[in-house]
Amino acid sequence: SKVRGSLYYAAESDDTSRVSRHEKYRMKEQLQAALSGNRLVLFYQPILDLNTNSISHCECLVRMLDDEGQFISPAQFLGIAAESGMMPRLDFSVMEKAMRQQRAWEDSGITTGLSINITAPTLEQPDFEERLAEILKRTGANPDRLIFEVVETDALESISAARKLLNNFKSVGAKIAFDDFGIGFTSFEYVRELPVDYIKIDQSFIRFIHERESDRVLVKSMVEMSHNLGKKVIVEGVENRQSLDIVLDMGVEYVQGYYVCRPMPISALDLSLSIRDL
Ligand code: C2E
Ligand code: MG
Ligand code: MG
Ligand code: MG
Repeated sequence: SKVRGSLYYAAESDDTSRVSRHEKYRMKEQLQAALSGNRLVLFYQPILDLNTNSISHCECLVRMLDDEGQFISPAQFLGIAAESGMMPRLDFSVMEKAMRQQRAWEDSGITTGLSINITAPTLEQPDFEERLAEILKRTGANPDRLIFEVVETDALESISAARKLLNNFKSVGAKIAFDDFGIGFTSFEYVRELPVDYIKIDQSFIRFIHERESDRVLVKSMVEMSHNLGKKVIVEGVENRQSLDIVLDMGVEYVQGYYVCRPMPISALDLSLSIRDL
């Protein structure tokens, strides 16, 4: 699944596959320096709960600060991180930052949760369970307010292995979302068998949903399936009001996308935002 992880990221960003060996090497060096020099920064993108018209969670989205103080997007470095075995270090570092932030919010009475992306190579670390417990303890984060997002294409070797790994999150009281649902190697068996709380429908089905009948048909089916299995639905990639209205009509519980808010540095984040006329 190490290979699958890197294929996934390579497929997600065409840039990565086109960059020269030299550029890759440079990016790897930069990433290593960023990891040791604390130059990974989290941006936060609000997730709107459509039932309460309020921000229930934010997704943590990592950025790398380069030498010139510019933010580098994950599309440019995650492929390289995966290929060179750096995902566990990166994921643990993000986990720690996110959990510190959650604790800081908790301390000031803010109940907004955080959603954290975790990749298969990290989950597969033999000491994952201990590391998770250790970071929770050190940061004092409230696991009730944490969602861990896993990509179904990372769909670990077997159902029973995957269930065992995901139960690490359940046993500490955190929730699990299937990220980028509907692309990749979708297997309904995974949806049926794994302890997943949220289905996060991939943005490629949502961004043009106001223009494409086929996307409406597919999303409607995914929402129905999820609900029939007792899972809540998050859609990402909502970029306009029409799309919001369409998914609202379908009974989707949570939306994320530029229409609600772009990913923001913590200093610019407005957790009180809501949608007018929802
Ligand atoms: P993702 O987990 O599916 O995150 C959603 C991505 O969609 C983010 O891109 C977000 O900025 C973008 N997005 C949100 N709303 C919209 C919208 O309305 N329209 C469009 N066009 N895009 C939208 P970002 O931040 O570049 O991250 C890309 C991917 O990199 C993420 O996809 C995730 O797979 C990965 N990633 C980001 N941060 C982390 C991290 O801390 N750890 C790990 N393991 N992966 C991460
Ligand atoms: Mg995600
Ligand atoms: Mg996603
Ligand atoms: Mg994605």
